[in-house]
Amino acid sequence: MTVTDPLQADCGRCAALCCTVPAFSRGADFALDKPAGTACPNLREDDRCGIHPVLRERGFPGCTVYDCFGAGQHVTQHVWPGLDRHDGAVLHQVGTVFPVVRALQELRWLVRAARALALPADLAAELAAADDALARRVDAGFEELRETPVGAVRAEVNGLLTRAGEHARRGVGSPSQLRGADLAGADLRGSDLRGAVLRWASLLGADLRGADLRLADLTGADTRGARLHGADLRGALFLTPAQLVAATGDAATRLDDDAVRPEHWTAA
Ligand code: SF4
Repeated sequence: MTVTDPLQADCGRCAALCCTVPAFSRGADFALDKPAGTACPNLREDDRCGIHPVLRERGFPGCTVYDCFGAGQHVTQHVWPGLDRHDGAVLHQVGTVFPVVRALQELRWLVRAARALALPADLAAELAAADDALARRVDAGFEELRETPVGAVRAEVNGLLTRAGEHARRGVGSPSQLRGADLAGADLRGSDLRGAVLRWASLLGADLRGADLRLADLTGADTRGARLHGADLRGALFLTPAQLVAATGDAATRLDDDAVRPEHWTAA
């Protein structure tokens, strides 16, 4: 099946860049060390993962939550057409732009999410312009991509996303300000986090069962192992599919109608 959304990964048109370009460190997310620019030993010759159905059981949960936002097929098809992942020199070059394209694609995804909100005309126009500018950057050639000031671009876009989030949450009284907070392992069962600013917060293994996270801004929050059973995430802002996959939940977790409930979540 060909994926038509340019912001959605299409592994069939990629050269397994996520399994070759980055380095892995042995730990909770990956069961082995792997240097950058080398193929994971689980990668098959047909560019498919040999343990895909049992990644979690075999100690590779990090692979299940990785999302390239379509960067893989873009680099493979447009930036370096015909790239051979067995060529170490080529892979080294590609490794200098793949993270750039991924970062830009993620920003495009977030801008798209912001544009879906009901916003004042001037902010909507600024987001539309940012969307166009990001698309132009992604479509640039290898050298331009390599020179992209990712940090500056991210800061500029994040300013717009913050304003969009503030506007979306304007009806919430005094939402919790937890930007960048370390809430790893925290007991937040049943908490009122409606409209909370949880941008880049660590929710690693946090117990959020039954929490009210409606309109919470979850940009970049680390949700690995967070327990979302029975939590209400309707309207949560900038919540990516990968963040949901990284967490656990169940049939009682309330999501927006268009959100995809991860397969590994329990039925009850
Ligand atoms: S375990 Fe599978 S998905 Fe993960 S990096 Fe290796 S080949 Fe890729």
